[in-house]
Amino acid sequence: MEVSETIESIRNLIKAARESGKNIGLVPTMGALHVGHISLIEAALKKCDYVVVSIFVNPTQFVPGEDFDQYPRPFENDLDICKKAGVDAVFAPSPEQMYPVENITWVNVTKITEPLCGQFRPGHFQGVTTVCSKLFNIIAPDIAFFGQKDAQQAIVIRRMVADLNMPLEIVVCPTVRESNGLAVSSRNKYLSDQQKKDAANIYKALRECRRMIDTGVKDASEIITEMRNILQQVPSIEIEYISIVDADTLQNIENIEGKVLAAVAVRMDPARLIDNILLDAAK
Ligand code: AMP
Repeated sequence: MEVSETIESIRNLIKAARESGKNIGLVPTMGALHVGHISLIEAALKKCDYVVVSIFVNPTQFVPGEDFDQYPRPFENDLDICKKAGVDAVFAPSPEQMYPVENITWVNVTKITEPLCGQFRPGHFQGVTTVCSKLFNIIAPDIAFFGQKDAQQAIVIRRMVADLNMPLEIVVCPTVRESNGLAVSSRNKYLSDQQKKDAANIYKALRECRRMIDTGVKDASEIITEMRNILQQVPSIEIEYISIVDADTLQNIENIEGKVLAAVAVRMDPARLIDNILLDAAK
């Protein structure tokens, strides 16, 4: 496995892989790799001949006051995980490599970045779309792999790629969960064992949403009330949002029809946790 810290060296590796006829897969990450990331790597290995994992804690997607400095950076362990998984190259640039001068060029997706996490993390998606555009320009992957865990991010990236005619495919992989249903996340490292147990109520609330829709409930506010009740059983959970939105526009819906995204964000000091499920009320 090759490890590149510069744009020049990763480009040379990609060029060589392309010249030998390989198609390129990219798994963008911020490191602190876990089974969720490994599932993306495995999906990439199935579809691509040459798989690159980027590890970059991107400063521009952290809002002031967030955990940029505290974000876990177990680099050597990440490299071991990538090697064992069969990754071909890791691209791990420094912030100076990615942003050598003040960044004054931004990629902005409007509308769908405003609801859900956009309300609570102003500027976050601009950082994500800008860094993903940079990674796509540096690596020129045929396919990039994202997780359903960050549903709004995946929808925003797909839309950016479509709107800007970027020549790659976006594949979104299912959320990997702990046995109690908690979505695996690098930020779960911030939680105590008790908090991890309590955080199972997030997925419990989402399962209740699915159950109610399956039994024909159409009123989104009735479902949200039930979900809120489940989350409020845990005093240490502070709800940021519970939303049921159209899966394409991410606008709130009152009457459930077709494809909907049920999404939850909570604070569980010191972590912020998000989770979601995609549902098709027509089925
Ligand atoms: P991050 O390192 O948190 O920026 O995540 C990198 C990629 O891994 C993103 O596309 C995430 O959506 C994805 N990811 C993170 N956690 C999970 C999970 N539990 N299941 C599936 N994908 C995940």
